[in-house]
Amino acid sequence: MIKDISDLTLKLKSMLSSQHSVYLKGSVADYIPALATVPPQLMGVSVATIDGHIVSSGDDQVPFSIQSISKIFGLVMAMNRMGDSLWQRVRMEPSGQPFNSIIQLEWEKGIPRNPVINAGALLVADVLASHYSSSKLAFLSFMRQLANDESIQIDQNVYQSELAHGNRNAALAYLMKSFGNIEAEIPDVLSHYFTQCSITMNCQQLAQSLLFLANKGIDPRNNKVICTRQDSHRINAILSTSGMYDQSGEFAFSVGLPAKSGVGGGIVAIIPNYGVICAWSPPLNKFGNSVVGMNLISGIANELGLSIY
Ligand code: GLN
Repeated sequence: MIKDISDLTLKLKSMLSSQHSVYLKGSVADYIPALATVPPQLMGVSVATIDGHIVSSGDDQVPFSIQSISKIFGLVMAMNRMGDSLWQRVRMEPSGQPFNSIIQLEWEKGIPRNPVINAGALLVADVLASHYSSSKLAFLSFMRQLANDESIQIDQNVYQSELAHGNRNAALAYLMKSFGNIEAEIPDVLSHYFTQCSITMNCQQLAQSLLFLANKGIDPRNNKVICTRQDSHRINAILSTSGMYDQSGEFAFSVGLPAKSGVGGGIVAIIPNYGVICAWSPPLNKFGNSVVGMNLISGIANELGLSIY
């Protein structure tokens, strides 16, 4: 475990410098054109601990598009609203398929495999759009509360770009609606989903916002209950089995922490009872996971012996 914080600061610095040409092995997501404009050489990493430390290096204060990392927060809100009935509409199994795959969804009659692939996150977006008078505002204020920063914003450029290139997500949502598993109107579901994906935050903010998952559902900074202890265990289980999409098995094998990636290049990893790592570098591998982000998190986890298994 991490004993000496100043030692960790040095380690993060040297891990980042070892990655300075590695980002060239990946490619920045361009199926959402606004994401393709982010400079690929940026990289940052932060480790926040439940006892109040934050250790950071590189471009750790540069805001980036959180994309699928937002699926964790949407899931927390939906679990809080729906309780166990949520699990009649979405399952908790790994999909073994790319994050935006549609094939399984028809075989399985419009019930998504889990809440962190796109189909499952759209289902969660439907729950939020149907249960809140303004789900987008509720989501934004949840993020501002967790990050303790009222200036957190939606990047309208990314939002418009997702909307204009969102045909596959629309297809997933319409297919689920055809099976009766979506309640709201599809444009409202998509609008909520693209809004939450378009929020920008930096590594420090994301690491701190997720401390409740390392601390049994309670935000250690103010003792607020963000979700139940049982739900924090369940979310970490889903992140362990599905958070890195069809690379989740390899990630469990080589890193061993509950984690979630986004196509903006961010990855968060939960260290139960200790803290959260957030790494960011835009170029992605073929699974949609940040190449450098994976290396940084795996470097920290192996160096400090953090695997939960
Ligand atoms: N907004 C992205 C999409 O729907 C999120 C995907 C991701 O980050 N993996 O494709």
